[in-house]
Amino acid sequence: MDNEDRVPCVFCDIIAGKSQAYTVYEDETTICILDIHPYTKGHCLVIPKRHVTWWHELTSEETEHVFSVARTVANRIMKAYSPDFVFLYARGRRIPHTHIFLIPTHKDDVLDRFFHALEKFQESPQEIAQLKDRDQMLETMRLLLKTDYSKD
Ligand SMILES: [Zn+2]
Repeated sequence: MDNEDRVPCVFCDIIAGKSQAYTVYEDETTICILDIHPYTKGHCLVIPKRHVTWWHELTSEETEHVFSVARTVANRIMKAYSPDFVFLYARGRRIPHTHIFLIPTHKDDVLDRFFHALEKFQESPQEIAQLKDRDQMLETMRLLLKTDYSKD
């Protein structure tokens, strides 16, 4: 199916030149634009020109090329803004045309704190489960038994 036959897509419009964007890279199959709602300076989106919802629906060649472009632009971001690293993730939920987020990341910025919290959440069930461990329960009990309540 040709891109023209599809439901309106903001990225297809940009690729077709019908909508404007801050383009930082473009070749035959891939474009990279600045996100219009940036988390930080240098936040870009790498977008395959073919309308594909999810990144894993790309062909092998498209996947290699899109990620190669992502690396090229990430190195430009590193030179321009000297972040700790360039964060990468792929979505297609809000705009159903796959796009790779490239976000310069500094320790303790908003995104760094968000993902740190997410990682803690991911690990917490295990940490909480360990609290139920018999040795942990006995240790807690012994600690509390030693507590002197006489001054309360
Ligand atoms: Zn599209």
